[in-house]
Amino acid sequence: MSRVYNFSAGPAVLPEEVLKEAALEMLDYKGSGMSVMEMSHRSKVYDTIIKEAEQDLRDLMNIPDNYKVLFLQGGASLQFAMIPMNLMKNKKAGYIVTGQWAKKAYQEASLYGEAIKLASSEDQTFSYIPDCSNLAIPEDLDYVYICENNTIYGTKYKTLPNTKGHTLVADVSSCFLSEPVDVTKYGVIYGGVQKNIGPAGVVIVIIRKDLITEDTLPGTPTMMKYQIHADNDSLYNTPPAYGIYICGKVFKWLKNMGGLSAMKERNEEKAKILYDFLDESKMFRGTVVKEDRSLMNVPFVTGNEELDAKFVQEAAAEGFVNLKGHRTVGGMRASIYNAMPKEGVEKLVAFMKKFEEENA
Ligand SMILES: *Cc1c(COP(=O)(O)O)cnc(C)c1O
Repeated sequence: MSRVYNFSAGPAVLPEEVLKEAALEMLDYKGSGMSVMEMSHRSKVYDTIIKEAEQDLRDLMNIPDNYKVLFLQGGASLQFAMIPMNLMKNKKAGYIVTGQWAKKAYQEASLYGEAIKLASSEDQTFSYIPDCSNLAIPEDLDYVYICENNTIYGTKYKTLPNTKGHTLVADVSSCFLSEPVDVTKYGVIYGGVQKNIGPAGVVIVIIRKDLITEDTLPGTPTMMKYQIHADNDSLYNTPPAYGIYICGKVFKWLKNMGGLSAMKERNEEKAKILYDFLDESKMFRGTVVKEDRSLMNVPFVTGNEELDAKFVQEAAAEGFVNLKGHRTVGGMRASIYNAMPKEGVEKLVAFMKKFEEENA
């Protein structure tokens, strides 16, 4: 068996300890005589799995009691619709468009009401985060929406927008659990777990309880009402049971690693190794403004498409895989999520140095 260094943006690398533990429990989960994949989501043993997962997430993120944690399906993309269907009471919401995912959310919301583009960085291929300290925000907005870490472009908000008292809704898919957060600053924090937490198929929604109401847009499907899932503790129907079990293991792994402050330190250290090299290299350069650099997704280019392709190919042959950039940016992108070991980044940088020397 040989494992590669997987720099995929998602689905992405998971902690090896978690995968090994899951393998050991595959045929017989804790004496139940069956795999977690085979058991009833209403069983006592599964109830413990999902409750412990929620508690561990609450501990990690310091989630206050007036927030509900929901384990849902449909990918982050289904939330693009679920958010307006549940929260657009005045049929008016503000969107800050900092990349493809924010743009898709904005476009989806406009199917349900008036989606107002409060700011955008599309003029510079989303290579920066706009100044959001004093935006013109209409009084009657239901919420202000952001994508906090832009997976494709590699930017991240270093300070949250000034919403002027409006509810903040954030897609944190690609920075979930990468550093401590103050949950109380948000109305809704959500993300697909396949970037930084677990297997595709689970979406975690952390939502302030007063935002969960019966008052949804007419025609909202039952499965898309937050209240249904909240009232049933994420067990209204069969949840993505195995995926939640793996997420639970990752939460325990994070606790063992020292929690989110320790992860932040580790992630900063890892990202610095790569960014420092990009800043000194004569061949490679980062594509976004320095102040807005993401700790999780690092896009870079050589400026020469043929050289980019050669790099991606030779890197893969050395066991550094999925480094090809998103089709809308080109070049390369290294996603260095929580589970990417520091050693993986160090070895990648050593390979980049060697490539630069050989191709100067
Ligand atoms: C990947 C991603 C999405 C889309 O996730 P799906 O689960 O495929 O719908 C949305 N937002 C962000 C920030 C992402 O990184």
